[in-house]
Amino acid sequence: MRLTFNGAARMVTGSCYLLEAAGKKILIDCGMFQGAKDINRLNYEPFGFRPKEISCLLLTHAHIDHSGLIPKLVKMGFRGRIIATPPTIDLAKIMLEDSAHVNEDDTMHENKRRLRMGLPPREPLFTIRDVQAASRLFRPVPYDSPCNIGDGLQMTFRNAGHILGSAIIELSATEAGKTRRLVFSGDLGQWDTPLLDNPALIGGADYVLIESTYGDRLHSAVKTRGDMLSEVVDETFRKGGKLLIPSFAVERTQELLYYLHGMARDRELPAESVFLDSPLAIDATRIFSRNMNYFSQGLRKEFTDPFGFRNLKYLRTAQESQTMNEYPKPCMIIAGNGMCTGGRIRYHLKYHLWKPENTLLFVGYQAEGSLGRVILEGADVVRMMGMEVAVKAEVRQIDSFSSHADSKELVRWACGFKERPKKMFIVHGEESSSLGLEKTLQGLGFETHVPVLGETVELK
Ligand SMILES: [Zn+2]
Ligand SMILES: [Zn+2]
Repeated sequence: MRLTFNGAARMVTGSCYLLEAAGKKILIDCGMFQGAKDINRLNYEPFGFRPKEISCLLLTHAHIDHSGLIPKLVKMGFRGRIIATPPTIDLAKIMLEDSAHVNEDDTMHENKRRLRMGLPPREPLFTIRDVQAASRLFRPVPYDSPCNIGDGLQMTFRNAGHILGSAIIELSATEAGKTRRLVFSGDLGQWDTPLLDNPALIGGADYVLIESTYGDRLHSAVKTRGDMLSEVVDETFRKGGKLLIPSFAVERTQELLYYLHGMARDRELPAESVFLDSPLAIDATRIFSRNMNYFSQGLRKEFTDPFGFRNLKYLRTAQESQTMNEYPKPCMIIAGNGMCTGGRIRYHLKYHLWKPENTLLFVGYQAEGSLGRVILEGADVVRMMGMEVAVKAEVRQIDSFSSHADSKELVRWACGFKERPKKMFIVHGEESSSLGLEKTLQGLGFETHVPVLGETVELK
């Protein structure tokens, strides 16, 4: 039995693990590499295995760093089943379609540049047709329902509490009469958040892959998020300004809508004051509303539809989005993308960033080099869309919004195994985070290993 780390090893993105067991080759996640140029380039490298030989793909959740290379996998010959929870399938379909459009656009721009330099054009990583072909391979399996994926191979999804439909995978593989139990944590959520239940604790395993995005860091308390948000909303409205929130389309946006719904219920918001300006986020929100049984009981008791309320208006078309440029009243605009590197948020920044009555609020991680990071670090003027824009709006940040468990919560999950695993493989984190978590886990007596990209281990 062998396991190869084809991605997310000493880095956060590109989750992809190849398990060779009971005569089968199983893939767990097939994510895109995202970040700096040398990481992005990995998307164009051939896979470290033959896609045709993979019998099935288990998908932990819809985020692109776990699902983004599925269309490429299909393009290269994969024809097996893609097993995921029902909401993961719905979300993955819209996210992959969006990703295909972005990739086709990027490739077109890149090719103009390459032609000017006398270089041959590059093919897009995949197209919308590859996404459609991939969509036909999905098979839904709900939480806590064991599923056979081959002779001697069985898997079960458990709630990971990270985003809607996200799963931990428990897998048992029997070879020559001996059974090994493997657990893939996927991405683990924070504890005690309003939307989702806590990550499930697992009874026992021989080998565990644990994510380590926040392996060496702690979040501030979840409880204060809503209060901080309502403070910023009130301040902006008092100044008569607009509140711009760059947001990720899946989970973060819906979390914001939940808090804003709470404010609206308590009559703190004027009518028509919240605008969701992102077709992808609108589609995702609809999927959230259709899957209420995947949310925590507390949430279902609090609201019938936490993500829809009368003050909220969807802006689907570009024309609708443009009406915000001259919108006369104070309001909130939630738009993608989350790091201001693309999407409609840039148009709102162009029209509103130079006005002191407005506020720009960051609720997500801003990667090095992104426009969001440049603004957050205090730039007076930013260059965007071919022009210079002064940063006169107030810039705020709430950093406790996160879909990931912090180091304390990761340890809590690791200690939740009733029988101690033989080994914990620490993945899905920058090297320093993974090594940080390793140190903590070793201190608690765990046997650990932080694999490198492409490493194969024998599971004895
Ligand atoms: Zn994720
Ligand atoms: Zn991830």
